[in-house]
Amino acid sequence: MIVVLEPGADAGVVREIGAVARRAGLRTVPDDPVRPRRLALVGAAPDAGGVLAAQLEGRAEVQAVIRDAGSAPLTSRQFRPGPTAVTVGALSIGGGGPPVLAAGPCAVESPEQLLAVANAAARAGATLLRGGAFKPRTSPYAFQGLGPEALRLLAEARRETGLPVVTEVLAPEQVELVAEVADMLQIGARNMQNYALLAATGSAGRPVLLKRASGATLEEWLLAAEHLLASGAPGVVLCERGLRHFDPHTRNILDLAGALAVRELSHLPVIIDPSHATGRRDLVIPLTLAGLAAGLDGAIVEVHPDPDAALSDGPQSLDLEGLASLAEGIGRIGVRLASLDAPAASASAQQGWTRAG
Ligand code: PEP
Ligand code: MN
Repeated sequence: MIVVLEPGADAGVVREIGAVARRAGLRTVPDDPVRPRRLALVGAAPDAGGVLAAQLEGRAEVQAVIRDAGSAPLTSRQFRPGPTAVTVGALSIGGGGPPVLAAGPCAVESPEQLLAVANAAARAGATLLRGGAFKPRTSPYAFQGLGPEALRLLAEARRETGLPVVTEVLAPEQVELVAEVADMLQIGARNMQNYALLAATGSAGRPVLLKRASGATLEEWLLAAEHLLASGAPGVVLCERGLRHFDPHTRNILDLAGALAVRELSHLPVIIDPSHATGRRDLVIPLTLAGLAAGLDGAIVEVHPDPDAALSDGPQSLDLEGLASLAEGIGRIGVRLASLDAPAASASAQQGWTRAG
């Protein structure tokens, strides 16, 4: 249920509604921590017979009650009609602002490899550095990542380039360690429905990049985001990274239509990952341009100084020249990328609510 407040409703009203909701077994989440205009009442307790909704509708400070806010209310446009900006260090993603480019190696392999890519990423106009420290590999014999050493190298690359860092967490017990370094935590496609991991990650105080599982519906994807938000994540960015399909010529199929359609349902920013979606470096540039031209909130691409020698995902990694060509292509289609320190499109669109009750 979502309560739409009258413009003049003050903090006292929010507290009172929070208390009423609590008595009914529900928790109240405001759309904005400073000046709430909508309150989501969430929890397992059903509002039998619509008694609570009717009680709230009767209040002078309540403009309307949306009784059916769907299964993932915190992600919904009913809760936040406008697009939400997610803040990652000095970077703002979404919120109607310019799109972001995130770039970096699939896995952090060495200081030289990471710094070469990080510097090239900064030159290309990327404002978020990716790099796996803990790698989810399909084979137990494949390179599993450098782990804590990679986190140290990511921190060094951030110091050198100023780029905020996103890296994946694989297990709840890793979250604290990774969150000490990462500006943004990544949930991989394989873990989209790992609910214990979503809960631990959501409560780490960092924004989250949530990959869509290769067989997930939009609703399942949004429910995974709901888990993160319900656990307190101060922002979630959705990432479409390709669905499993039948044709071996591409690794997955980029669901650009789904990435656009999910924005009708949700206020959360949406980016694409054409590297994992295709598995082919020759397709990464055109698909990135397609996503940006379609108005999505950004793209994340894998880059390696010597892709043929990469310890993971070499065939889909751009080399440093490829990354420069991507930047050129983005300029050619007239897209201006987000820069660091750019003010959010709307301060009130900032995510990061506190719990009212
Ligand atoms: C990655 O981005 O490093 C990754 C493993 O991606 P995905 O979870 O989308 O496969
Ligand atoms: Mn990869």
